[in-house]
Amino acid sequence: MTSALTSEIPGADPAWHTQNEHPFYKPSHHRLQRFVREYVDKYIAPNVEDWEKAGEVPAEVFKRHASLGFLAVAAFPLPKDYLSGVDLPAGLSMDEWDEFHDSIIIDEMARCGYLGTVWGINGGAAVGGPPLHQYGTTEQKQKYLAPLLRGEQRHCLGVTEPAIGSDVAGLITTATKSVDGKSYVINGEKKWVTQGQKADVGLIAARTGPPTAKGISVFIVPLNSKGISRREMENSGVNSSGSTFMELDDVVVPAENMLGKENQGFEIIMSTFAHERLWVGITALRLSRVAYEDAYRHSLKRKTFGKPLFENQVIRQKFSKMANRLEPTQAYLEHLVYRSVRMPSLEFSPLAAMLKVQAAHHLEKVSRETQQVFGGLGYSRSGQGSRVEQISRDVRVLVVSGGSEEILLDMIAKQQRRLANL
Ligand SMILES: Cc1cc2nc3c(=O)[nH]c(=O)nc-3n(C[C@H](O)[C@H](O)[C@H](O)COP(=O)(O)OP(=O)(O)OC[C@H]3O[C@@H](n4cnc5c(N)ncnc54)[C@H](O)[C@@H]3O)c2cc1C
Repeated sequence: MTSALTSEIPGADPAWHTQNEHPFYKPSHHRLQRFVREYVDKYIAPNVEDWEKAGEVPAEVFKRHASLGFLAVAAFPLPKDYLSGVDLPAGLSMDEWDEFHDSIIIDEMARCGYLGTVWGINGGAAVGGPPLHQYGTTEQKQKYLAPLLRGEQRHCLGVTEPAIGSDVAGLITTATKSVDGKSYVINGEKKWVTQGQKADVGLIAARTGPPTAKGISVFIVPLNSKGISRREMENSGVNSSGSTFMELDDVVVPAENMLGKENQGFEIIMSTFAHERLWVGITALRLSRVAYEDAYRHSLKRKTFGKPLFENQVIRQKFSKMANRLEPTQAYLEHLVYRSVRMPSLEFSPLAAMLKVQAAHHLEKVSRETQQVFGGLGYSRSGQGSRVEQISRDVRVLVVSGGSEEILLDMIAKQQRRLANL
């Protein structure tokens, strides 16, 4: 018997919630889904609008989030060696935690409808955890990864600069080695650093070699170091995510704070993208469902010309067309989640990029149609259409960050041709 908590609105939730026999979802997945949904509905969703206005997620909310094990599972595969004594969400054990538990957490968190909160409450564990886990030394993991997963530290990732975004290999922030080789001096600027306001530690990419992809290194930089200044950035949306402009002026970092090897930074940055793109795909699909659900409910209630909006064929058709976008993407997503731990990362990478492009593109369309169903309410920052209005301001960043659409489409074509040896 299924035990998932699900919406009564058709299409507002994925079909597996109500299917007892499913090749991917087992009782532990249903249990986790229920646990996260109850948590989000009780502690997160009722407050997201206030946090977005305030521009931050309160510290006590972050603490509770960490204490329930949500940061511990932000990196997948789980860094088990650095999680001793940490309870995972829904009382699941580390050994049973799989790729579908990971996707359920991402999906249900996005259901709060506010991307800024999703990023703001995560404390950078999703961006800081995986590279530290994969490339960090034992000492670095003990000092930075273990506290990150427990919510005792917050991290951020500084790659983008005022002069470079998509062209990561061209970054111009420099890290110059001292004569005795014991430290590096970093100079440069980083832009749109998510969580940069509150982070204790930044993974900062800087040039240590030739002006190519082979000349970049990543440093673990304590953000209370001398020479670092930060200021808030104002964006269209994601206001509670702590978007930051960071200046690094002669910042001295010990050589042991280099992550991985010198000039291995490009590989480290790229390695984080496959999971991030899966993450964006899952999140964008869920935000589409959130907007769809709110608009559907509104269309049943709102009367024009003496009858509910939903009684008009042209409005009903909008919902069918939206569902026609969401359900095939859901099927592709579940297939990819399954494949994510069963195929070489080089082959998986273009497939994850396809999901990201597709889900973000659908979200753009769904955002437009659901705003239309809400009429003027879809343009108001408070009231029944507020989540749909917020999503219309957040959607762009899902199309642009984690690899912008044009860059990814080209990468997909090139990588698949290379894999086919053509
Ligand atoms: C809210 C927010 C949060 C972010 N968080 C972080 C973060 O935490 N850390 C971080 O390092 N970065 C972060 N970013 C930056 C993000 O990764 C970049 O915005 C992204 O990489 C795109 O870079 P850009 O904005 O400089 O666009 P550009 O590289 O200037 O590109 C502009 C447009 O041109 C297109 N384009 C570029 N080159 C080509 C080409 N050769 N052919 C065809 N089209 C092309 C792009 O697809 C894009 O649409 C964030 C951005 C935002 C808005």
